[in-house]
Amino acid sequence: MTDVRPPPRALPVVDKDSRTFWTSGRDGILAIHRCKQCAYYVHPPVPFCPRCESREVAPEAVSGRGTVVTFTVNHKQWVPGLPVPYVLALVAIAEQDDVRLVTNITDCDPGEVGFGMAVEVWFEPVEELWVPLFRPVRGS
Ligand SMILES: [Zn+2]
Repeated sequence: MTDVRPPPRALPVVDKDSRTFWTSGRDGILAIHRCKQCAYYVHPPVPFCPRCESREVAPEAVSGRGTVVTFTVNHKQWVPGLPVPYVLALVAIAEQDDVRLVTNITDCDPGEVGFGMAVEVWFEPVEELWVPLFRPVRGS
């Protein structure tokens, strides 16, 4: 079994709207912007709701559970030191199917990853950020 580790990553540009998303992992929390008027989750984080145009949008903790919508296994070592293979995936959060995070699936063999697989968040500290990554939900 190849235990997949997360690849080195280019850090995101963090602004005031996305800061909570990139730092709340310090407390083990996945925070997604949510509209207080219509309860719609808004991602990537912007200061207004695209559904009802309210500006009452603020980060809110979600469960950290999700499902793999699509994924690709990368075998090419693009840069020296890049551990391969790794899994690049789009994960829909459990709370709202159209909130989809570009992330890596870790802690499993790439061959285990499948469409619709249940995953849970964990956070990789990188400099001052906490990058949300996902791993399979194992039986309790
Ligand atoms: Zn709204």
